[in-house]
Amino acid sequence: MKACLLRSPAPIAQNPLEWADVPAPEPGPGEIRVRVSACGVCRTDLHVVEGELPPRKSPVIPGHQIVGVVEKLGADARRFPLGARVGIAWLHATDRTCPYCRAGKENLCDHPAFTGYTVDGGYAEYALAREDFAYAIPESFPDEQAAPLLCAGIIGFRCLRAAGIERGAKLGLYGFGSAAHVAIQVARHRGVEVYAATRGKQHQQLARRLGAVWTGDAMDQPPEKLDAAILFAPAGEIVPAALAALRKGGVLVLGGIHMSPIPPLDYNLLYHERVMRSVANNTRQDGDDFLRVAAEIPIRTQVTAYPLREANRALSDLKSDRVNGSAVLAVSAPANLDHS
Ligand SMILES: [Zn+2]
Ligand SMILES: [Zn+2]
Repeated sequence: MKACLLRSPAPIAQNPLEWADVPAPEPGPGEIRVRVSACGVCRTDLHVVEGELPPRKSPVIPGHQIVGVVEKLGADARRFPLGARVGIAWLHATDRTCPYCRAGKENLCDHPAFTGYTVDGGYAEYALAREDFAYAIPESFPDEQAAPLLCAGIIGFRCLRAAGIERGAKLGLYGFGSAAHVAIQVARHRGVEVYAATRGKQHQQLARRLGAVWTGDAMDQPPEKLDAAILFAPAGEIVPAALAALRKGGVLVLGGIHMSPIPPLDYNLLYHERVMRSVANNTRQDGDDFLRVAAEIPIRTQVTAYPLREANRALSDLKSDRVNGSAVLAVSAPANLDHS
């Protein structure tokens, strides 16, 4: 099969992903092989490709927002029939036995596997998933529209949950990329007022079109104190500005897996019971809940599609803020691998 292979991390300007022919993976017990039709491009992929996340598998195929069709079943796999459309997300597997898994916090598992990082992902024509970690995709979403829901969407949803806001609340979104453009739709649907602080006129325009009552630069102070804010931009230097925008008791949720250092904080920014917390990964319950809500609303993702072999260009565009909404790799593989 064709795949974009990362042998060793390097700045995206050096095109570190290699267009390669590799053997298609064989599904083991409880696994399904999925013919990939679309794979969303996430900022985490950029952190993997550029090495901000330490290499865990080499070479590795990145990509963890996979939509495709079940094409082969491993032994004992019976949750999905052949031909079923499924989604594969970041959390590839857990150990099920650690204290976090036993407490229903599998997103914090001590021994997790991650799609497109510790195991191969979806920048390829075929990908494997554990059937119990795959998602059924609501019918209403075309493949390319569905792909960004699987990380950007689910993580944004978990961030909203962590923010603990209710109807009428004022929510700040810092950074307005793939995750924020989905989260704002969930927030608006719940009657939350959204203030979007982001660099780039394009991103600000998209935020206003999706219902933001205010847009400004990432360091600008919104005109009202916020009940909560979510920081999607991987820029620690924004944290003081975001904390300064919160009312007393407000919550700042950090949504990224990697962020540049947070500068020293004046304690006054945190005092009065303001809370700053991160969100790490997601539980399968988050994913199922979000996909149901996404279909109900319904969420509309704004997608820019790239051919699979141009994954380097997609990541480069993401890094330099040239993607408005979500970038997605469009993949079309031979229909029957074993006979082609
Ligand atoms: Zn565990
Ligand atoms: Zn992601």
